Amino acid sequence: MTATPGGWRRSHTCGELRAAHVGQTVTLMGWAFRRRDHGGLIFVDLRDREGLTQCVFNPATSAEAHAGAQEVRAEFVLAVQGTVQRRPPGTENPKLPTGEVEVQVSQFRILNESKPLPFPLEDQTEVEEAVRLKYRYLDMRRPQVLRNFVIRDQVYRAVRDYLHAQGFLEVETPFLTRSTPEGARDFLVPSRLARGSFYALPQSPQLFKQLLMVAGFERYFQIVRCFRDEDLRKDRQPEFTQIDIETSFLDRDEFLPIVEGMLVEVWRRVRGITLPTPFPRLAYDEALARFGTDKPDLRFGLELVDCSDLFRGGQFQAFAQVVAGGGAVKGLRVPGGGPLSRKDLDGLVEAAKGAGAKGLVWVKVNPDGLQSPVTKFLEAVKQPLLARLAAEPGDVLLLVADQMPLAATVLGRLRQELAQRLNLVPPHEFRVCWVIDFPLVEWSEEERRWDAVHHPFTAPRDEDLPLLDTDPGRARAKAYDLVINGQEAAGGSIRIHQQAVQEKMFKLLGIAPQEARARFGFLLEALEFGAPPMGGIAAGLDRLVALLAGEESIREVIAFPKTQKGTCPLTDAPAPVDPGQLKDLGIRLVEEP
Ligand code: ASP
Repeated sequence: MTATPGGWRRSHTCGELRAAHVGQTVTLMGWAFRRRDHGGLIFVDLRDREGLTQCVFNPATSAEAHAGAQEVRAEFVLAVQGTVQRRPPGTENPKLPTGEVEVQVSQFRILNESKPLPFPLEDQTEVEEAVRLKYRYLDMRRPQVLRNFVIRDQVYRAVRDYLHAQGFLEVETPFLTRSTPEGARDFLVPSRLARGSFYALPQSPQLFKQLLMVAGFERYFQIVRCFRDEDLRKDRQPEFTQIDIETSFLDRDEFLPIVEGMLVEVWRRVRGITLPTPFPRLAYDEALARFGTDKPDLRFGLELVDCSDLFRGGQFQAFAQVVAGGGAVKGLRVPGGGPLSRKDLDGLVEAAKGAGAKGLVWVKVNPDGLQSPVTKFLEAVKQPLLARLAAEPGDVLLLVADQMPLAATVLGRLRQELAQRLNLVPPHEFRVCWVIDFPLVEWSEEERRWDAVHHPFTAPRDEDLPLLDTDPGRARAKAYDLVINGQEAAGGSIRIHQQAVQEKMFKLLGIAPQEARARFGFLLEALEFGAPPMGGIAAGLDRLVALLAGEESIREVIAFPKTQKGTCPLTDAPAPVDPGQLKDLGIRLVEEP
């Protein structure tokens, strides 16, 4: 119960009144969501966080209140007093929990007025995002937006309850720190006390959580902000939230079920859905071969099929050459793709080229034979090809011949796109899987050196350790990603906890010993003081909430997000600063050339 300046006390929320309250005198406070003036009667839908209640201003009940209600505009803040009554038969609103009743207003107060709004607060607003973000506090009045934050709050609670029950300790780690190893660009904070020196905002608490394991904390978690100065092309934010976890003495197969339990608890509490466990596991190579991506969306089939052997040494020179050169021919059956027009198919060819392939061959399986720009080259392999792809009349087959993994990734993108276009994606389903056995390192042509696929502290699989000296590209990591509906929801690994292996890894990545000491010296030193075996994971909380809320973009579940250009239309950050502040920091701006 809250007191207002006028001494009125709120007796109920706007979501609370039911038929059982009929006859009671109540006091409600909230915003005038909609106002309808029916001449004789004025209706105001009063809204607070809990819901909407219809308030009726009837001159027969109170001429004064009725007259006053004529002044009320959208989003005025009101306190109303009145009697709960049943709505007249036929005027109930079954869509509203309070839809059986209304409040007959005897007196009311305008607690505050509102300027006309920059946009209407309807659920499906078409308002430009920059405007919504500038007035985010108004945007957030929309029940749809509020709902996302209720889900977010439920996720925090479910995660904390679950992890605490599993013996995890919640620990905060510094924001003003040094560069961390996630491989993105750092946000820097200049130091005033040590002029010319900078803190880096953490890209993740990676190094600190490993130190907490050296400290003997055994099970740590933190719901923590991370900062990465990346180009925000995709659905990324410069600051985002992770559920960050680290454990000691557990191997992968002991650790992953703990994470599964957390997801199960979250989905159960927020959506009332029981995710089946154990989550299926796909090796990275298998994910790539079958789905053309390490983030496979398992809600639909459309699996890629290897057809390389069918074209080896065959008539179709273009394909035969690729296979002879060590490449692959990957095929995709699009069931019922027959109606795809010539223009659609040309569009797919262009999309494949845009994704880096030399081309794409499409084949229509008609009742009277194959139809394709290269039909005559396919005659010889027609039967085995149809059998391999389990093709039926009315299907379209897509073939890409290229080096791996390119052939698969190109087709994987088309797989995703076609599933959307042909409505093969069930909208309310969640399909979760682990992708494991990632490569440890990948070759960077640009920098002419090996790069860590996860980060430099990820352990190689024991049996692959010798490959670090002989064939690093084939070494697999003890890394795992959690994928939900084709989106990466979490990623982590078992860590290197022995100094010698860590040094070997740095050497492989071309990080010289002095550089390693300079960047991660404190961690390397800690590893020399009895570091236990350890491993962990970080889950993208914003992404999880977006999935649970059915939102495409994580911006919809972040209170005050940045635009894709990294700006905040509400505060106008980032902004120039006072010359005096720069002087204190010992910073002089150099004019851009
Ligand atoms: N620090 C890693 C990340 O932010 C996660 C982990 O390895 O636990 O991606």
